[in-house]
Amino acid sequence: ARKPFITGNWKLNPSTKDEAVALATGIADSVTADSPGDIGLFVPSPYLETVQKIAGDKFVVGAECVTPETAGAFTGGVSPSMIKSMGIEWALAGHSERRTINKESDDYINSQCKMLIESDMNVVLCIGETLEEFEKGLVDAVCEVQLKKGLAGVSSEEMKQVTIAYEPVWAIGTGKVATPEIAQDVHSICRGILGEMYGEQVAEDTRILYGGSVSPDSVDGLMEKPDIDGTLVGGASLDATSFGRIINFVT
Ligand code: 13P
Repeated sequence: ARKPFITGNWKLNPSTKDEAVALATGIADSVTADSPGDIGLFVPSPYLETVQKIAGDKFVVGAECVTPETAGAFTGGVSPSMIKSMGIEWALAGHSERRTINKESDDYINSQCKMLIESDMNVVLCIGETLEEFEKGLVDAVCEVQLKKGLAGVSSEEMKQVTIAYEPVWAIGTGKVATPEIAQDVHSICRGILGEMYGEQVAEDTRILYGGSVSPDSVDGLMEKPDIDGTLVGGASLDATSFGRIINFVT
């Protein structure tokens, strides 16, 4: 059975280190021995070390994006080796905001995934369709392309280092959470695609998280579904009480 994985993504928040310390401390305080899953927090790179110290063994800390290079003339870049050397072992790749705002292509995202894996780190590959694609019935096709291109060249063995996050773009930051039924359908389709790519065992073992307007009100219903293995929470991870409730979901 897959252990649940409840994660948060702070994006470009909070604005100061003091606020980051307060928020991370509140989140750490809400993790107990009875919390049902593994917990992870993806934070802005300048806060990685500080939040990691607060996290201790209560939750893992990861970067929101990396530059898929080891060193060189890439102004503003943050490489996997830099953060790995700080004890950070997780990063997101392919978030829809990076795809849209930073024009990250599937090829670039694939390089990020491969570089993280080669650096002995774990990657959460984010995929998901836009509203227009959803309305045109293209969900399966978009997920298939993003999974196949994002994971090109990643072996079955390396899939142990990969988690998938399905985040429909129309649900991100809109308050329009996908219903548990819609999310379950897509997660099941994604698991099927992983099965075609890597076989049954890898498909069964890979955790697939849901992201998009997850809140204390919606988490329990989502987590009841068999193929939803966790969450990637944006807005609600900026409030320790809300994220604490999500961490301690009840099914
Ligand atoms: P919201 O939870 O704010 O919709 O953000 C989801 C997200 O993009 C997490 O990566």
